[in-house]
Amino acid sequence: MKNRIRKQVESFRVTPNLLDYTATCREFSWQAARRGLQGLPEGGGLNMAHEAVDRHANGPRAAHTALRWLGKAGAREHYSYRDLAAETSRFANALGALGVESGERVFLLLGRVPELYFAMLGALKARCVVTPLFSAFGPEPVATRMQIGAARVLVTTETLYRRKVAPVREQLPALEHVILVDRDASIEETALAPGLVPWPRLVGRASPEYVIEPTDPETPALLHFTSGTTGRPKGAVHVHEAIVTHHVTGRYALDLHDQDIFWCTADPGWVTGTSYGVLAPLSCGVTVVVVEAEYDPATWYGVLQDEAVSVWYTAPTAVRMMMRAGLEMLADYRFPSLRFVASVGEPLNAEAVVWGESAFGCPIHDNWWQTETGGIMISNFAGLDIKPGSMGRPLPGVEAAIVRREADGGVAVADEPDVEGELALRSGWPSMMRAYLDEDERYRKCFAGDWYLSGDLARQDAEGYFWFLGRADDVIKSSGHLVGPFEVESALMEHPAVVEAAVIGVPDETAGQLIKAFVTLHQGHAPDEAMRRNLLGHARKRLGPAVAPKFIEFRDQLPKTRSGKVLRRLLRARELGLPEGDLSTLETDSR
Ligand code: ATP
Ligand code: MG
Repeated sequence: MKNRIRKQVESFRVTPNLLDYTATCREFSWQAARRGLQGLPEGGGLNMAHEAVDRHANGPRAAHTALRWLGKAGAREHYSYRDLAAETSRFANALGALGVESGERVFLLLGRVPELYFAMLGALKARCVVTPLFSAFGPEPVATRMQIGAARVLVTTETLYRRKVAPVREQLPALEHVILVDRDASIEETALAPGLVPWPRLVGRASPEYVIEPTDPETPALLHFTSGTTGRPKGAVHVHEAIVTHHVTGRYALDLHDQDIFWCTADPGWVTGTSYGVLAPLSCGVTVVVVEAEYDPATWYGVLQDEAVSVWYTAPTAVRMMMRAGLEMLADYRFPSLRFVASVGEPLNAEAVVWGESAFGCPIHDNWWQTETGGIMISNFAGLDIKPGSMGRPLPGVEAAIVRREADGGVAVADEPDVEGELALRSGWPSMMRAYLDEDERYRKCFAGDWYLSGDLARQDAEGYFWFLGRADDVIKSSGHLVGPFEVESALMEHPAVVEAAVIGVPDETAGQLIKAFVTLHQGHAPDEAMRRNLLGHARKRLGPAVAPKFIEFRDQLPKTRSGKVLRRLLRARELGLPEGDLSTLETDSR
């Protein structure tokens, strides 16, 4: 495995926005970054939708395509920045017509249709607080989130409403208005229950002119729920000022340039799909490709090729599914426009980083952040060498460190390289969450003095690159060693038969915990005793006997959240016969 992918200035097709990392970090300030945005006229503050939409609609990029929508059934729609300004203004006016005021909560339960984007940005114009929910959630997760968020308005479709909201309607006393988006339009004439109103009748007829009122940058803008990987999902509150981080990371971490065609595969129901599927790329004025269909390798390769995507942001789970589908599938596709690929959400094993080169002609640039951080914090930048398996280096303006929590509630900051500990960020970046909704105590516990504590374990090497070890909750203590699951999982994934692996600790009287791995295999490999021995031997050779797993169990699939994260806590709970906990975000499962 390569331990470094060198970047050479001569080989860049487009000069990266961030080339001199040290100088940029030295000179960077958030105040200066803020000046890269426009702000509302006459000192009216900062509004996300103004920066993402109206600013461009009133300038030289007005006719540039903002959204290129590819519908499931083959439909295509294009919206310029000028169009997007009009559609989002209609939605903001529609909220006004319903009497919805600034600060009230607007929930979106929609597939990736254009109205999702109009409603999100329109509600931001009206200074409402927006929560996009993943449309594949069942009624319970929808109800819980809408209750926590005290949703007053919901935008959804008739089918989604009938299946997911109607059954729990009486648990939602705050909900007053339901706007139904039905693209076949027949609903407009249908008689609907009180409180239900069809989009065409309400939004379609609203004025396309709207003046955003002054917006204090500290005004809440988004309420995003975490993935629920470690327990009950938390509602993180973000403010309009977060757009400064979105913009800077769009330029630096995703390396967006004016002519880019950008595709983020995440659904806006997860923070990635909002920060990077909507806000960051639009704030940079590029064209965003929106794909309504779910993952399927042929569809995805077709989009990359046919839409001439130049910058692509995806997730490790998807990359591993593509690896499983095999390189042969790629033989019919060409990606001459693609120049930068990035990934987030889970650790990206070195194997997958390098696979990107053979599949797409670009390595995959891992980056790290969380719902709570609102934007990318640590990243492999386009202009810097990649160390495969590392998350990269901190964004200019972000101070990251490895810390150890002390008994008195403070932290000790590691002052030399390669110390393992908790990844912490110096608070104060614009997209830092401002609260966990209704959970003040939980929020306070995320901070020690100036430091935000991420709950993830990592180390930083002498060159400043961060390496993920695992979530603090998933770390295994075996015979006096602290073992991060990612190291063991990565070693297993290096074996050609292995697609994915998840590692947990099982109690043992002598060792404290022993390591057990759950493994999925590539097609054509039998999950038999010979394979089990083969993998145990491979792991022992790679990791040494102390850290290698003692047990291996084969699975067709690993349990994952709907955002693609492995639920090690569920594997652990089942292994130990403990309660399974909150499973509202569980996607795939097989015992
Ligand atoms: P919950 O907080 O509810 O348990 P979650 O932490 O999975 O869920 P998210 O905010 O969606 O919810 O995910 C952030 C987490 O994802 C990070 O804290 C980290 O554990 C993991 N993660 C994100 N990017 C990376 C990466 N590049 N490498 C390793 N882990 C990553
Ligand atoms: Mg988390």
